[in-house]
Amino acid sequence: MAEKSFKYVIVGGGVSAGYAAREFAKQGVQPGELAIISKEAVAPYERPALSKAYLFPEGAARLPGFHVCVGSGGERLLPEWYKENGIELILNTEIVKADLASKSLTSAAGETFKYKILIIATGSTVLKLTDFKVEGADAKNILYLREIDDADKLVEAIKAKKNGKAAVIVGGGYIGLELSAVLKINNFDVKMVYPEPWCMPRLFTADIAAFYEGYYEKKGINIIKGTVASGFTKNDNGEVKEVKLKDGRVLEADIVVVGVGARPLTNLFKGQVEEDKGGIKTDAFFKTSVPDVYAVGDVATFPMKMYGDIRRVEHVDHSRKSAKQAVKAIFASEQGKDIEAYDYLPYFYSRSFDLSWQFYGDNVGDAVIFGDHDPASAKAKFGSYWINDGKVVGAFLEGGAPEENQAIAKVAKAQPPASSLDVLAKEGLEFASKI
Ligand code: FAD
Repeated sequence: MAEKSFKYVIVGGGVSAGYAAREFAKQGVQPGELAIISKEAVAPYERPALSKAYLFPEGAARLPGFHVCVGSGGERLLPEWYKENGIELILNTEIVKADLASKSLTSAAGETFKYKILIIATGSTVLKLTDFKVEGADAKNILYLREIDDADKLVEAIKAKKNGKAAVIVGGGYIGLELSAVLKINNFDVKMVYPEPWCMPRLFTADIAAFYEGYYEKKGINIIKGTVASGFTKNDNGEVKEVKLKDGRVLEADIVVVGVGARPLTNLFKGQVEEDKGGIKTDAFFKTSVPDVYAVGDVATFPMKMYGDIRRVEHVDHSRKSAKQAVKAIFASEQGKDIEAYDYLPYFYSRSFDLSWQFYGDNVGDAVIFGDHDPASAKAKFGSYWINDGKVVGAFLEGGAPEENQAIAKVAKAQPPASSLDVLAKEGLEFASKI
């Protein structure tokens, strides 16, 4: 079987890989030195589009429209760009074995790829209800969303079912919220089910969640909390027909979309590299415990300088920035230079209907809400601050203008002292604009 050798190999062809490629080109990578190996069939693209504009009934986003780096306002890297830069895009190729000691990777088709420096950018995979042996979870039209192939299946299922059919969304995280909205926009009768007392519990406070739940109810989405999908029934074609809930209720369903979390894809490297907090442990330059091996994006557990701990972050902003940092570090070390340690300010966002929120920093300590958070308002706009040890450490804003989002980012970075929760509630965005 064929063997190919490269100076640099990126395994995984998602967001991090695309942003890494751009940085490689910027740093002057030579033709033939870099290969990206991806099990997907397309060049790196902005994954967040899949749960948003990709599923719109009209004017849907399609490739090549959202290849990286358009999501951060950068140049769109089309497949030709990789060719012009001498970067080999090896698509439809799944790596099934990695031997870090001999610096070689093996694909499902049996090809061998050798490298001098490896960047692991395999991202995450979704948790499936079949993994938990939920009865009937193998029915047709029980769908998941991670890659463009999954999104295409969802588009087909949406088209196959006529308007007004029933969709059940399992999971109350951002994927569940974005998918519920987009199925409603596609004229489905939508129900959301999740076990927690409110949506997005890892980030949202009860106050923040109450706004989104109220807004979704106003749009006609029925939210069922405090229970889980415990089984499914199928029709004669093997398609899902009903969702059975643990509390005994039964929901009709033509489509079920499950968003119950993801798991970082580190299996290939198990036992060969140090892990922590479910990911591959790196330093502030995304170097792993194995020489010449870097890990970026969803799979990396890295030092969070601002908070003095180590974390894994499954969000697009970090995947872009970590990729850039790793490539800069690789070139710096080749040139005997130093670069600054990664100093990441956590930033997450989501969009659905005409809503759009951003969050910066850390959501620890006491939280206070400000602004108009009445879901019945024509143009609600509100935010939240988190205060820990007398300092504002996190900030959230729904419906903010770009300069307002920048202002809350500044707050989270500067961590200014806060005299009282009441003052912050009263000052709201004004507090941020003074920083
Ligand atoms: P990925 O982008 O997932 O790329 C991993 C790549 O590796 C994939 O191409 C995969 O096929 C490939 N791969 C994996 N294993 C192998 C193998 N063995 N061999 C070859 N190739 C392999 N974040 C936000 O902050 N805001 C959002 O609104 C948002 N929306 C999202 C919507 C969806 C539907 C999804 C799935 C994620 C969303 N995210 C969002 C999260 C964000 O997209 C991820 O954090 C980001 O894509 C991580 O980048 P990555 O490069 O680590 O992994």
